[in-house]
Amino acid sequence: MKIVAIETLVCHARMRNWIFVKVVTDEDGLYGWGEATLEWHTRSIVGAVEDLAQLLIGEDPTRIEHLWQVMYRQHFWHGNGIVRATAISGIDIALWDIAGKIAGVPCSKLWGGPVRDFVRTYAHLGGGRMEDFYETDAGDAQRFADLALEAVEMGFTAFKAMAVPETMALEGLKPVRYAEANVRAMREAVGDDIDIMVDCHARPSPAMGLRFGQALEPYGLYFFEEPCWPESLEGLARIRAALTTPVATGERLTHLAAFRDLFAAGGADVCQLDITHCGGFTAARHVASLAEAHRVALAPHNPQGPVSTAASLEFGFSQPSYVICETVHGDVPWRQDVVREGFVTEPDGRIVRPNTKPGLGIELDETEIAKHPFQQELPQRSFHADGSVLDW
Ligand SMILES: [Mg+2]
Repeated sequence: MKIVAIETLVCHARMRNWIFVKVVTDEDGLYGWGEATLEWHTRSIVGAVEDLAQLLIGEDPTRIEHLWQVMYRQHFWHGNGIVRATAISGIDIALWDIAGKIAGVPCSKLWGGPVRDFVRTYAHLGGGRMEDFYETDAGDAQRFADLALEAVEMGFTAFKAMAVPETMALEGLKPVRYAEANVRAMREAVGDDIDIMVDCHARPSPAMGLRFGQALEPYGLYFFEEPCWPESLEGLARIRAALTTPVATGERLTHLAAFRDLFAAGGADVCQLDITHCGGFTAARHVASLAEAHRVALAPHNPQGPVSTAASLEFGFSQPSYVICETVHGDVPWRQDVVREGFVTEPDGRIVRPNTKPGLGIELDETEIAKHPFQQELPQRSFHADGSVLDW
C-alpha cells in the first residue's frame, strides 16, 4: 500500500479557515482525514503540507511512527515551528484515521481504549460566536452572567470565559476588580455545580497573572488558563505555586521537549496540548505519557473544526488522565453540514459517547466544504490605550 496524494481543503468558517488534510492511498476508497487549522497562517500551512508531501508520496501509510520521524527530522530543519508542526499534525491525524480504517476499529481502540464510558465537553461563552467570547466588555459583568446561563441552559456543565481584561505589564486595582466582578456574576448565576474556566490568553505579565489568580481564588475555578506568556516557565510556576486554583497551559507548545520543560518547571496542573499543533496523535501520545509521569491532567485545546474535535475526543477515549474536551458548536450555522460524526453528543450534560466507526469515524462532505472557499481571516490587532502593542 502506498500514499498517492496529500491534499488540503480550505473551508472558511468566519473566524478561522479550517484546513482539512486528506491523505489518499492507492487502495480503492481508502483515505484518511486530518486537520491543520492555524489562524492567520492558512497559505503557509497549505504550502507546508505540499512541501511535506514530497517526503511521503510513495511511502507505506501504515508506518506512522517512521513517517512522523521523516516529517520531523528530514531536510535539516526540525518540524517544531508552529507552521510545520501544524502541517505534520494534519498529516499524522489522517494517517491514524487510515490505520483505524484498515483495522476496522476506532483509533482509540488501536491505543488500548476505550478507557472511559464518555468524554465530558465544555463550551466557550457564546458557543463559538467570536464576539461573545473574545469581545464581551470586561466591565459588563451582567453580560458574562447571561452568557454563562445560556451555556448551562444548552446542557453544558462547564464553560470557559475570557473574563480578565487586557492589561499592561503592570496596572492597578481596576482591571482586577473587573475580573472579580465578572467571575462573581457568573458563579452567582450558575451556582457551585457548574465548572467555570477563565482564559487569560497569555496576555498578563506574571505579576498581573498572579494578581488576577489570587483575586479569583474564592470562586473555585476549574482551571485558570494561560495566566502569562507560555515562554515564561518561571512565571507559570510562580503563579501555580501561589494558587490552589489549577493552572492550565500548553496549547501553543509544538514539541515534546517544550512539554518536558513545562512539566519539569512545575508550570501546569492541566496540559492543553493541541493535537493539531503538537505533532498529531503520534506526538500527543508521547506528551500524554510525560504528563502521566507528572500526574498532569489533559484537556486538549480545540476551538477548530470538526476533524480536530473528532481527534480530541478519540484521544480522550484512550487517555486515563484526560478530563474534559474543549468544543465550539456555534461558530458557523452550517458546521454540521460539512461532517458526519461517528460519535453521539448527549444534549443533557453535553457528554460524548464513543465513536463506533473505524478511525476517527467521520466523513467530510467535500461539496459542502467547497461552498466556503478561503477568505482572509479578520485581522485582530490589539493595542493598549497608549498605542503600545498588546497580545490578542
Ligand atoms: Mg486558550
